[in-house]
Amino acid sequence: MDITVPDIGHFVDVPVIEVHVAAGDVVAAEDPLITLESDKATLDVPASAAGTVSEVAIRVGDRVSAGDLILRLDAAPAAGVSAAGVSAAAPVRERVTEDAAPAPVEPPGYGSPSGIYEVIEVTVPDIGHFVDVPVIEVQVAAGDVVASEDPLITLESDKATLDIPAPVAGTITTVRVAVGDHVSAGHVIADLRTGETVVPEPAAPEPAVPEPAALVQPRPTAPAAARQRSAPGDVAAEVLVLGAGPGGYTAAFRAADLGKKVVLVDRWPALGGVCLNVGCIPSKALLHAARVIAETKEMSEHGIVFGAPAIELGKLRAWKDGVVGRLTGGLAGLARQRKVTTIRGYGRFSSPHQLQVELADGGVTTVDFEQAIIAAGSEPLTLPFIPSSDPRVLDSTGALELGGVPERLLILGGGIIGLEMATVYHELGARVTIAELMDQLIPGADKDLISPLAKRVTRQYENIYLKTKVTNVEARPEGLVVSFDGPKAPATDTFDRMLVAVGRSPNGKAIGAENAGVTVNDRGYIPVDKQLRTSAAHIFAIGDIIGQPMLAHKAMHEGKVAAEVAAGKNSFFDARVIPSVAYTDPEVAWAGVTENEARAAGVTYGKGVFPWAASGRSLTLGRSEGLTKVLFDEVTGRAIGCGIVGPNAGDLIAEAALAIEMGADAADIGLTIHPHPTLSETVALAAEAFEGTITDLYLPRR
Ligand SMILES: Cc1cc2nc3c(=O)[nH]c(=O)nc-3n(C[C@H](O)[C@H](O)[C@H](O)COP(=O)(O)OP(=O)(O)OC[C@H]3O[C@@H](n4cnc5c(N)ncnc54)[C@H](O)[C@@H]3O)c2cc1C
Repeated sequence: MDITVPDIGHFVDVPVIEVHVAAGDVVAAEDPLITLESDKATLDVPASAAGTVSEVAIRVGDRVSAGDLILRLDAAPAAGVSAAGVSAAAPVRERVTEDAAPAPVEPPGYGSPSGIYEVIEVTVPDIGHFVDVPVIEVQVAAGDVVASEDPLITLESDKATLDIPAPVAGTITTVRVAVGDHVSAGHVIADLRTGETVVPEPAAPEPAVPEPAALVQPRPTAPAAARQRSAPGDVAAEVLVLGAGPGGYTAAFRAADLGKKVVLVDRWPALGGVCLNVGCIPSKALLHAARVIAETKEMSEHGIVFGAPAIELGKLRAWKDGVVGRLTGGLAGLARQRKVTTIRGYGRFSSPHQLQVELADGGVTTVDFEQAIIAAGSEPLTLPFIPSSDPRVLDSTGALELGGVPERLLILGGGIIGLEMATVYHELGARVTIAELMDQLIPGADKDLISPLAKRVTRQYENIYLKTKVTNVEARPEGLVVSFDGPKAPATDTFDRMLVAVGRSPNGKAIGAENAGVTVNDRGYIPVDKQLRTSAAHIFAIGDIIGQPMLAHKAMHEGKVAAEVAAGKNSFFDARVIPSVAYTDPEVAWAGVTENEARAAGVTYGKGVFPWAASGRSLTLGRSEGLTKVLFDEVTGRAIGCGIVGPNAGDLIAEAALAIEMGADAADIGLTIHPHPTLSETVALAAEAFEGTITDLYLPRR
């Protein structure tokens, strides 16, 4: 129920000087909710009923008049509420009020609004004395849109032919029977997703004339609706997965675990996609090597002096390739154990239910599928004025191959990939220059998080040019002659190699999506709803190909949701946060709302900050520049964002992600005992700094 300001006589526009409750508080009738102060009086506005506050609509400083909304109250009496209004057991400010169901889907026009989906099992109705009747026709497939009363299957007993119609309109998500099966009343025929409007596939014929009302009847004279099919393919899949990166293999394995017959298609020889083969894993192996070199240098200043490292590039490369091989080999084993059929080749959709694959070792094969999950990922972006075919011009894949260590390396792009590669090549001995178009490294991240990293790399690298455009690159025998346009950059400079790390573009336009009725936007992304359905209801898309942030853990999470929905489960992608990490030195990590975003969205937030200069653990690691900050919503008190910079920030951010997902407030985090001395303490200490209970720092009283 809504609690509004009652009749307060002739007072209007009275300032709120105190708000006594927060979302989640349990109040008794007559408990004070807010205090108003006019020039004549101070008024407490009490609760008109007992209940739990679900939302507070005003803040200190707001001005209110009679009738204005103060808060919303779940009026149901809370069990165990004491006379004082707060149950000893009732968790104050800990109740998660959001429903598990996610907010309505955007963008408008694709998929269906989420939250109204319901998957029902369609069963064989009462068919009189018939039992164990053979199915002689299955008239629908997964993804088909059916009207109420459309025939789904046909049974034939020795006495009659019976059509079993759909009880309601919707989309078939799974067909559970096949021709030749024997069924009786109650046998599950199909799963049907109801409550949505799906545009039928363009190739589908007009639906059959609806049958009369009776559930079971003699075979209709009009032929039942049948989906137009191309000639049968070479391989049949209940679920086809295109692309075996983290999104694709996760989806394939989950679908197989849920009983689906899965075919997984990828053009590369090893499963694992960009992440395992040319992304997350090889880069982290090389970053570990870089960290070891950096630590030996750092310890030299503290009494343990190492000589300059002798770097055997061949061995380092082999070790990195070995790590990749071990993981991709493991995936191949997992696919075999699950009986997932893998096909190596380049796939393009040729119709809504077929994929043509140009096999890697020659020839073409066609896969028929009931449902598909597109996980075809992304490619490095190239720029037209860059001579990409010159072997001295690298993308991230080329840089990870570790063909050699140039004397002077230009990195075009100061984002995560560019800076991780800068970390590696700097420690291996290259003189690194970074050119970044924006006014900050890792544009978009909060400046205070980037600043410790920027300070360190400014000391280490040859040049960092911000607000700088590379306007031309000329490949000459003596080197790559690069033209710059920026406040601190020279007009031209010559480099031995250059890494282009200006972003990645999705592969949506290269898979024949239009033949399957899947909409792809101008930039090559595939729009999806919160169940990862594309504009074709039986085809899902996940991972880099559906949009930012391009991160492996996002792709994996989406892969699970898509596979579960394809298997008839009512799953949604409704994560509150997707953490991001730059594995630079120091690492930078954040989850949830950044301060930049909070300010732009007008969110009233407070923050607790803990500088690592006061962390015992950080100092014992020889580092003091780190920082942990946690943002809290001033209205609900809950953690909404966290940013960490310092060694191992990428591991630490997981706690913040959990806290945000769980709706934790500062007391939840601060009162959780963290082991000492660890970097993890800094998360609790930042929460304590927000609460004002911290003793490890002296903060003047608020
Ligand atoms: C250098 C680098 C470092 C990175 N580090 C991290 C990191 O530390 N953490 C992190 O979370 N993310 C990282 N990423 C990003 C991460 O790799 C991607 O977000 C992730 O791989 C996306 O997964 P995906 O399943 O969407 O697609 P991808 O991994 O891109 O896989 C797509 C697969 O589809 C295949 N394919 C594409 N088109 C076709 C076709 N038509 N037919 C057949 N096969 C096709 C490709 O061969 C590929 O195997 C990094 C990326 C790079 C480049």
